[in-house]
Amino acid sequence: MRFEHVLVVGAGQMGGGIAQVVAASGRRVSLHDAAPGAVERGLAAMRKSLSKLVEKGGADPDEVIGRIEAVDAVVPAELMIEAVVEDADVKREIFRRADAVFPAEAVLASNTSSIPIASLAAATRRSDRVIGMHFFNPVPVLQLVEIIRARDTSDETAEAITALARDLGKTPAVANDVPGFVSNRILMPFLNEAVCALQDGVAEAEAIDTIARLGFAHPLGPLALADLIGLDTCVAIMEVLQEGLGDDRYAPAPLLREYVAAGRLGRKSGRGFYDY
Ligand code: NAD
Repeated sequence: MRFEHVLVVGAGQMGGGIAQVVAASGRRVSLHDAAPGAVERGLAAMRKSLSKLVEKGGADPDEVIGRIEAVDAVVPAELMIEAVVEDADVKREIFRRADAVFPAEAVLASNTSSIPIASLAAATRRSDRVIGMHFFNPVPVLQLVEIIRARDTSDETAEAITALARDLGKTPAVANDVPGFVSNRILMPFLNEAVCALQDGVAEAEAIDTIARLGFAHPLGPLALADLIGLDTCVAIMEVLQEGLGDDRYAPAPLLREYVAAGRLGRKSGRGFYDY
């Protein structure tokens, strides 16, 4: 299965990035988002990203964008990659709709950061063809795709999605279907602890990030990274970890919740731990 036509649902920072790398691989992409103007904003962000990549030998922006069509519904394709908000109910509804219109042999994948894939597969009648395909931000730049196999995911589905990840120029790594998988089980407690350090007055935001960047050789400090991911998304992931793993050590720091309540969502809202 080469997946020549892919539906990407959600045109935010992840969905836009995923649509971009899939289209850059020569495939046809349909891109759907429920919010008015979201696809247009996604396409504008893509054009910017592609123009930067041209200098490094990337594909022609017009050609790549020419392979992406905006669609106003969940339309059938050979593969869906869902990248809407980190909310299990919203995702399940997308999976239910896709299952109803996609051909029986098509695969339904989610870019969820933390929500168990089996709980999305349960909204379909094809749990053997449901899988996690977890890209990293920014998608055109970061190499990793975490592939999450749920209990019912077939070998054929896992192999086809692993091959697709490689064909997109990415490096796949397989994880089992446990809340947060590998990446966010490790990352979120680290980010949350940085927020706790800020909240407890251990250091200023810049100092916390400098210590992590230079001390641990990370390209971004944890607070800047949380701003990049989106503080709302971080809270949603931590809640899945806390509830799913039944352990309050994953509970989001009060300061993180406070920022989200105040609309400080990070880069995407112009303000988080830093101003943008
Ligand atoms: P985002 O807020 O940038 O975009 C989410 C998009 O989903 C929005 O454009 C919104 O309009 C759309 N949407 C919401 N409900 C919808 C619906 N019912 N139908 C169609 N579209 C709908 O979020 P994001 O950062 O792109 O994250 C999307 C997903 O990717 C989440 O599951 C998140 O956990 C995951 N993820 C995020 C990151 C990251 O760094 N931000 C990394 C890996 C995975």
